[in-house]
Amino acid sequence: MTVRRPEEYIEAIRHRSKVEIYVMGKEVEDVTTNPFLKPSVMAFKATYDAPWDEDTKELARAWSPFINEEVNRFNHIHRSPEDLAAKVKLLRKISHKVGACFQRCVGFDALNTLYITTNLMAQKGKTDYKDRFVEYVKYVQKRDLALAGAMTDAKGARNLKPHEQPNKDAYVRVTDVSKDGIYVSGAKANITGVAATEEIVVMPTRAMGPEDKDYAISFSIPTDTEGIKIIIGRQLNDARRFEGGEIDGLPYYYNHEGLIVFDNVFVPMERVFMLGDWEFSGNLVEIFSSYHRQGYGGCKAGLADVIIGSASNLAKQIGVEKAPHVQDKLNEAVFLTETMYSAGIAASLNAVQVCPGCWWVNPMHANVTKHLVARFPYEISKITTDIAGGALGTAPSEWDLKNPKLRKYIEKFFQGMTDYTAEDRLRMIRLLENTSIGVAFLIESVHGAGSPAAQRIMFNRLYNFSYSEEVAKRLAGMRSSVKFSEKAEPWRETDTEKTAKSTKKE
Ligand SMILES: Cc1cc2nc3c(=O)[nH]c(=O)nc-3n(C[C@H](O)[C@H](O)[C@H](O)COP(=O)(O)OP(=O)(O)OC[C@H]3O[C@@H](n4cnc5c(N)ncnc54)[C@H](O)[C@@H]3O)c2cc1C
Repeated sequence: MTVRRPEEYIEAIRHRSKVEIYVMGKEVEDVTTNPFLKPSVMAFKATYDAPWDEDTKELARAWSPFINEEVNRFNHIHRSPEDLAAKVKLLRKISHKVGACFQRCVGFDALNTLYITTNLMAQKGKTDYKDRFVEYVKYVQKRDLALAGAMTDAKGARNLKPHEQPNKDAYVRVTDVSKDGIYVSGAKANITGVAATEEIVVMPTRAMGPEDKDYAISFSIPTDTEGIKIIIGRQLNDARRFEGGEIDGLPYYYNHEGLIVFDNVFVPMERVFMLGDWEFSGNLVEIFSSYHRQGYGGCKAGLADVIIGSASNLAKQIGVEKAPHVQDKLNEAVFLTETMYSAGIAASLNAVQVCPGCWWVNPMHANVTKHLVARFPYEISKITTDIAGGALGTAPSEWDLKNPKLRKYIEKFFQGMTDYTAEDRLRMIRLLENTSIGVAFLIESVHGAGSPAAQRIMFNRLYNFSYSEEVAKRLAGMRSSVKFSEKAEPWRETDTEKTAKSTKKE
């Protein structure tokens, strides 16, 4: 069946060949039962629930012309601006189900990025990559595989290019090439959901020059390939998961990130989508980062909905929901949330087509979306921390509540309004703590899809300052050479659009 059932996904990752995954120094036997990783698997699974749930099945399914069948949207190649908007809407909705990052978007964006990049390469005569990649898309879609997207390298000294690094593996590189395939070494850092995936799609992390061509590589590889090691990162409050609780211990959903180490790993040639083609690395990064920045308008807005809902309920639990300052703060949180979402929708509906069948997001709107996301969740979190009261950082544990000697005190002193119990308050406090002060809402919002400076570089590159200056000079009565363009926005083309145009001309 092309659209997999959630239980088929769980069985598939349970029965992968041996994958070397480490959590806090110990090797993991089964990610589906490991207490640290199970919440991540459950969140990832929500992307497999979506095509079957009544409220999401329309959004979560799409028709693939590659295999002439319906596929899970997370493995779909966008065919229209509406497809891009459906992505943002779906992400917002799934966030409501899991209150965490569900980790499948990076692979989704990697798939679409490589579709455009290999098309651009084909237009320059490098057709093998596109042919291989289309075969790969079919392979992934037919099996409804769970993909990780791995772009961020370890990077060592940030002020040095890959070939200048003292550690030659600071960026993933080719160490050997044979007619059957390539050998790669290096590491990809902060990779979302990787332990819950079946395939890793690897891409270069920056624009490169000819001297970095060994680093200009892209490929896909099964997560359970020999020679790959995955070291899972720590998170706030993560040790609570080992306590076995059902309030404090994150019994529901969460996400994880991992460091993927490639120690001279073989990749068959049919899975290599870029090999030394440094001149396309900048385009690839631009395409991927814009896709990923657009998506944040959906998932972070959805997470914000959970956070706003928690704060709104906690206000009721302590009897302050009608206070004007509380209402005003909640309204501010709504405004911030809907702004992020609106930008994501704008990036989708104002999409650009860079080659036949290649629907890319609007790069300016996508960068704006991510820049809002880098700021607003911290504001929302501040607002909801304010409304929740100090208990957000000081509430007793569920083990105090469960201790017969203490329960009556917790019930007496932790209850606010009598409509709610102390346990209700504790549960909502923990939910708000996990969602609003977690990795997914704060740290990922700043750094995921690129740190804020990366978006400001794009604003500077895309905005046509000389055009707006000439417009202003004309109105000020100065000499002006303005030639009004038909477009409303004074934006310049991206490098990707320029490449697309130049390939058409040749
Ligand atoms: C929760 C989370 C999930 C993520 N998931 C994924 C994923 O699934 N796949 C993936 O590929 N990546 C993922 N990332 C990685 C993310 O894309 C990077 O964190 C981001 O690009 C920033 O890189 P960095 O973390 O190495 O920060 P750094 O590069 O160390 O940046 C730190 C600071 O240094 C500045 N800086 C860096 N280089 C320079 C320079 N040359 N000149 C001037 N200033 C500089 C930055 O602007 C920033 O302010 C994830 C990150 C997080 C936090």
